[in-house]
Amino acid sequence: MVLIDCHTHTQYSMDSEADIHSCAEHALEAGLAAYGISDHCEVNCWYPAEHYEKQGVDMSLSDYYNYAADFEASLSAVTRLKEEYAGRLNILCGTELGQAHHDTGLADRIVSDERLDYVLGSVHQIRNEKDFYFINYRQYTPEQLHGLLKRYFTEIYELCCWGKIDILSHLDYCRRYMKCGYQIDFDISVFDEIIAEAFRELIKRGKGIEINTSGLRQGFGDTFPGLKYAKLFRELGGEVLSVGSDSHTPEDIGANVRDGVNIAKAAGFEYIAYFRRHEPVFLSIS
Ligand SMILES: [Zn+2]
Ligand SMILES: [Zn+2]
Repeated sequence: MVLIDCHTHTQYSMDSEADIHSCAEHALEAGLAAYGISDHCEVNCWYPAEHYEKQGVDMSLSDYYNYAADFEASLSAVTRLKEEYAGRLNILCGTELGQAHHDTGLADRIVSDERLDYVLGSVHQIRNEKDFYFINYRQYTPEQLHGLLKRYFTEIYELCCWGKIDILSHLDYCRRYMKCGYQIDFDISVFDEIIAEAFRELIKRGKGIEINTSGLRQGFGDTFPGLKYAKLFRELGGEVLSVGSDSHTPEDIGANVRDGVNIAKAAGFEYIAYFRRHEPVFLSIS
């Protein structure tokens, strides 16, 4: 079976210590047809903290970290790694760009970097809220939780309308924190219409979504998104489906990507895809 992993982190992400060379060795061992490195870059934390304080942003909501330095370090290291492994491993240079829609002018500038093969688009934090990782979900009534998620999916739609992401990351990953940390299992079907609108924005630009397999190894028990939304994307005419482990250690590279490919097949896809120079490359899985 042809396997790819287009969502992985290295030592150039603030939440990972994965040595980039160990990562490449693990990707080789895993026999990946494409290995994409996508270190974090949160658009709302690009400038030094003082920049945001001067603008009156409530910095207590964000666990501030300067992503600009890591972005440069990651892209330089991945560019060197590509040369080092040329002919042996198909390495793609990506970034996991968070909250691009909060500052599209800056995001335009970041993604114009010619070293990038692809951009994963994520929403980790919505306006006037903490990062989903840090939210105490018990403080919300069911109605408030509905409101929070409605704003989240509306921002996902806004991100897709920006038009410069290649792959939409982990569509419904915040359910992991709710279910695993707070035993709240929220049915997101009520947002299917806005999700379909977001998918249509991607589809008309020839862009895609990912099957993020991290939920399978982190106790959630499903991928982000699961089969239902992979099917919806296909039914709406989507052709570009990627797979990523969201690994933060070398050992997790390629974890459960086989399950991701099986979901792709079950959803009716005959190909999985990765991006080189922002153009999709399709690999047959039938
Ligand atoms: Zn993410
Ligand atoms: Zn990630």
